[in-house]
Amino acid sequence: MAERKLLIVNGRVVDPSRHFDGPADVLIEGGRILSVAPKISPKDTETIDASGLIVAPGFIDLHCHLREPGNEPAETVETGTRAAARGGFTAVCCMPNTQPVNDNASVTRFILDRAAAAASVRVWPIGAASKGSHGESLAEIAAMKDAGIVAVTDDGKPIATAKLLRQVMEYARSLDLPVIEHSEDASLFAGGVMREGATSVRLGLRGVPAAAEAICVARDVQICALTGARLHVAHMSAKESLELVREAKRRKLPVTCEVTPHHFTLIDEDVVYDSRYKMNPPLASRADREALLEGLVDGSVDAIATDHAPHTQASKEVEFDRAPFGVTGFETALGLALEALLHSGRASLERVVELFTTGPARVLGKKRAVAEGEPADLTLFSTEHNWTFHAQESASKSRNTPFDGRTFRGGPMATIVAGRIVWQRKE
Ligand SMILES: [Zn+2]
Repeated sequence: MAERKLLIVNGRVVDPSRHFDGPADVLIEGGRILSVAPKISPKDTETIDASGLIVAPGFIDLHCHLREPGNEPAETVETGTRAAARGGFTAVCCMPNTQPVNDNASVTRFILDRAAAAASVRVWPIGAASKGSHGESLAEIAAMKDAGIVAVTDDGKPIATAKLLRQVMEYARSLDLPVIEHSEDASLFAGGVMREGATSVRLGLRGVPAAAEAICVARDVQICALTGARLHVAHMSAKESLELVREAKRRKLPVTCEVTPHHFTLIDEDVVYDSRYKMNPPLASRADREALLEGLVDGSVDAIATDHAPHTQASKEVEFDRAPFGVTGFETALGLALEALLHSGRASLERVVELFTTGPARVLGKKRAVAEGEPADLTLFSTEHNWTFHAQESASKSRNTPFDGRTFRGGPMATIVAGRIVWQRKE
C-alpha cells in the first residue's frame, strides 16, 4: 500500500537555509518532503490549507528539561513533548539533570525508549559531561553518543574545573559533539536568587552579579581555543558574556550561544515575591536585555532556546528564597519572539525563523530546510492570529510561568513531524 501523502497548500514558505521567502505548496510522502513548488494539485492527499500562514522548517529547542526519569510529577517525556508540539517545536534537546542523571548509555536509551513510546516530537537527549554531573570524572560520553546523545553538558552548573572542561572538550572534539556550558562562577553565585542590583536590594533578596556568568564564559572560551572543540553557551543573560562570544566569533573560534524568551522580554525590575520569576540565570538588567535583543538581530546569538524547566506547584509555592529555579517555556516562546523581534520592527521574519530552525540546527551540526528529500518536519505559524495563553490549559504538567494570561499576536498553528500532524490549533 502506498504511504499516505500530505499536501500543504497556499502557505508562505520561509526557509532561511536558502533565503527563500515566498508562496509555495509542499507535498510530503513517507515522512519526507517530496516536492516544494508554486502550485501542486492534490491527488489522493490529505490537504492542509495554510492560507495566511508561514510554513517554516521544524523548530528545534536546544534546551529543555523533561524531568523523566525521576521527577514525573513535574513532567514526563509524553507531557513535555505535547507542550513542545503546541509551541511549534518538532525536536527538543533534553538536559541530563534527571534522576538518575543521564551520564551513561542505559539512561540515554531509557529516554529514547520513552520517546519512541509516547513522544509527540523528536527527542534528542543531551548527555552529562561528568559522572553524576559531579564535576569529578568523565561520564560515558562515547557510549552515550552511540546511544544517541547530541551534545554534553553538566547543565544546572558549569563543568566544575578548567582541567575537567579541557578533558571533556578534547573528548567531545574527537566525537564531534558540542559542549554546552551553563556558565556561572559558583563562588560568586553562592546563595543568590536574583540578579544583583537596585531591585535585589529593594526586595532584600540575595543578588548574583552579572560577572558570575561572564567570568565563566571567559574561561570556557579559553578552553575552546585550547582544544578546538565546539562550545555552546546556554541561556546567556549578560551583555559582558555576549561581548566575549562576539570576540570569539571574530577569532573564528567554534563558539555559539542561545538566549531564552524570558531573558529577552523580562528584566530584574519585573521580579516580585513570586517564584514564577525565579530562574537561573536570573532575569538581568534593562541594558542586558537591550544587548541580547541586538545580538538576536545581528546574528551574534545563534538560537532561541526555551530552558523549559517545569516544577510542581507544591515545590514552587514556597518563599522566593526556597523555591527551585526555572520556568516553563515551550508554548509561549514563538509568541514572545514575534512580539519582541518582528512586531517591534527589529528583525525580519526570516531572522526570527532562523533563530528557531537553521540556527539551533547548526549548533548541533544538523541541517534544517524546506526542500525536496528533507525530513518532513515543519512548523506552521501565524504572525497575526490573536490568542491567549492560559497555563491551566497547557499540555505541560507544570504551571510555573510568568506569562499566564498573556495575549499574543501570532503563534504556532500546526506542528508536523515526519509528515504527521502532531498538533493543530483549534481556536
Ligand atoms: Zn542551565
